[in-house]
Formats: sequence, structure tokens, C-alpha cells
Amino acid sequence: MLDSVRIVLVNTSDCRNIGSAARAMKTMGLSQLVLVDPIEMPNGQAQALAAGATDVLANAKVVSTLEEAITDCGLVVGTSARSRTLPWPMLDPRECGEKLISEVSDYPVALVFGRESSGLTNEELQLCHFHVQIPANPEYSSLNLAMAVQTLSYEVRMAFLANQKVANENKSTNKNTDDEYPVVDETERMFEHFEQALKATGFIQPSHPGLVMTKLRRFINRARPDTKEVKMWRGMLSSVEKSAKRNK
Ligand code: SAH
Repeated sequence: MLDSVRIVLVNTSDCRNIGSAARAMKTMGLSQLVLVDPIEMPNGQAQALAAGATDVLANAKVVSTLEEAITDCGLVVGTSARSRTLPWPMLDPRECGEKLISEVSDYPVALVFGRESSGLTNEELQLCHFHVQIPANPEYSSLNLAMAVQTLSYEVRMAFLANQKVANENKSTNKNTDDEYPVVDETERMFEHFEQALKATGFIQPSHPGLVMTKLRRFINRARPDTKEVKMWRGMLSSVEKSAKRNK
């Protein structure tokens, strides 16, 4: 289970934080580390801080965009030290651990961490299904990156242990087997299709796109369509495109 929980660090500037994050992960049983465009590649200093977790560091995958890091994930939670202008479905750390564990047997799941200086961009946060905020001191809410990784990995572990206990007690899990959610790649293709169709109807003006796609993304994200519903949207959008073409 824990092998399908991915920790994604975006554009980290200090590789010592990557080393400390690797250690934080291993203590909680996590091993899948993905680095998105790190400014400084892990070096000897990172290894020193990783201590006994140099294996996690050595196995870390390096990719150039966040989308690449999460394309096969069915659930993505982004972290944020502060509230953003466009509110998104929020989880507290406990709910975040429980949610990740309740879905991890269906597909890889990811927890995404931002830059030391400025966190995650709005575009990056909008690729996530949920946001999680550690309810820290409102007057000083920004944790060190690796400490945020530690805190949220601990919650993942607690949820994992609780789930094991339930599984052992009644040999069944508490997950809802009816839900089958799409992975990021499928959802992203649906959004591209939305944009294309809405441009074809003239609802989105390429010169003034406004916030339509962002608001639509938030709305669809809140509804969390399953795989069949995504397929239905694709079908509806194709029919909209066809009709727009006929009416031209
Ligand atoms: N100055 C940045 C904070 C960056 S802290 C900002 O205002 O966004 C570096 C990273 O640690 C964040 O991107 C996030 O991934 C994590 N982090 C720090 N404090 C956090 C908190 N209170 N809740 C959730 N994540 C936090």
C-alpha cells in the first residue's frame, strides 16, 4: 500500500531539504520520491541529512513538470501553508492520510509539496483534487519543507496502521469498491476537450479566455466524476463539437 503513495517535491531549491524529506518518508514507511525540476540535485549534503534513507534518495525519480509526476495518479493532494485566492476542496492532515489510504489500492496517489520560497503556483494547485493545510500557528504557519513532509507522512502512516487493524479484525477493508476514479491523464484530456469544444461554440474567446477553465476545473473537481462519467463527458463534448461545426 505505502509503495503507491508518492511524495512529490516541486522545484526544491535546497537539496538538504530533499535529504531530510527522504529520511522523514522512510521513517513512516514511504519510499516513492519524485523531484520535479529540482534547482539543486541531491549531493553529499543531502545524503548526510538522509542518513539511513539514502536508498530513497538514490531511487528518487526526476521529472521536469508536475503533470509528468502525477499523470498516472488517481488522487492528488497539494499542500499549502496559506489560503489561496481561489478556494479549493480542503482536507485537514488527518483526513488527508485517511483519503490517501482509502484509495491507494486502486491507483498511485500523490502528496505534492512546493518551493521553500513561494510554495506551489495556482496552476500547480489546480492540478490537485484536494488541498491540505497543516493547521499551524496562524501568525507563523510556514513549516520547513521536510518537516511538512514528516507531518503529513505521519498521518499517512497512522491511517495505514488503522486500516491494517480493521483489515486484520474483520478481513475486509472499508473502501467503497463502486468508485473507480480516472487518473490525472484522463481528466486532463477531458479538460482539453472541454476547452476545445467551448472554443468551437464561441463560449471561450481565445483572445479573452478569462477564468472559465479554472472555474470549470474547480466545479468538475468538486463533483469528482468517476471513469464512466468522464467518458460520458467526452461523448457529450464530441457531440457539441459536431453540432458547432454543422452550424458554422
Ligand atoms: N512561503 C511559502 C511557504 C513554503 S514552505 C508560501 O507562502 O507558500 C514549503 C512547502 O512546505 C510548502 O510549499 C508546503 O509544501 C509545505 N508546507 C509548509 N508549511 C505548511 C503548512 N502549514 N501546511 C501544509 N504544507 C506546508
